[in-house]
Amino acid sequence: MSDIENFEVYAIRYATVERHSAENFIGGDVHETAARMDYFVWVARNSTDTVVIDTGFNAQAAQRRRRQFLRSPAEGLRLLGIDAADVREVVITHLHYDHAGNLDLFPKARFHLQDREMAFATGRYMSQAFFSQAYEVDEVTAMVRMVYGQRVLFHDGDGRIVPGITVHRIGGHTRGLQCVRVRTRVGWLVLASDASHYTANRIEGRPFPIVAEVTDMVDGWRRLAELADAPGLIVPGHDPLVMQQYPAPSPELAGIAVRLDVER
Ligand SMILES: [Zn+2]
Repeated sequence: MSDIENFEVYAIRYATVERHSAENFIGGDVHETAARMDYFVWVARNSTDTVVIDTGFNAQAAQRRRRQFLRSPAEGLRLLGIDAADVREVVITHLHYDHAGNLDLFPKARFHLQDREMAFATGRYMSQAFFSQAYEVDEVTAMVRMVYGQRVLFHDGDGRIVPGITVHRIGGHTRGLQCVRVRTRVGWLVLASDASHYTANRIEGRPFPIVAEVTDMVDGWRRLAELADAPGLIVPGHDPLVMQQYPAPSPELAGIAVRLDVER
């Protein structure tokens, strides 16, 4: 381990929406407060590797689904000094519209995806709106084209992206959802993506209502804890607390990006 250079890890917020907290928990929320959902892409980099995790959606998708679009994920990356057009490795945690759009902004990238996610997103359950509503057929089709273009590297369960970064299938939310584990200066950090939309889903044991297999989602919370070196090193996928609990990497990036590999 000691010869692996630590990664810096950032969350970039690219969109947001106001919603009721009851929408975030199966069975609703007794507290019933106003709640925000933030949309992120993430990036891990050291002196040799830059790995982008998820690609977000674009302005048109935001308008269609009534989300407040803040900036293109590529613009967020640019503010961190990363040109999306140069990125070689992109992990797609799952193919939902808010995680897997904008593929054209990454012309040199290889996309890392779980076998079961592609099978799920192109299989029988997509004829049911309950399962297909968070997918965009054009985005899924774009990824199918990437497969034929030899630009998808499939993983089945656990896989290594580069030294110090691995992926792990969690399932639950979708059948092929994967989280990302990153070696950092504060220990192994886990980007949960939608294995835990909010920290409250995991801590309070209240599943998020968009779910393929709820038992896998519940088992996933434990898996996240096993993969991270400390509970504070599990980063939820949509929680607005992320922007409050982590520091901006510079004053200019306040409200846009936060650095995740920090002591809290
Ligand atoms: Zn999501």
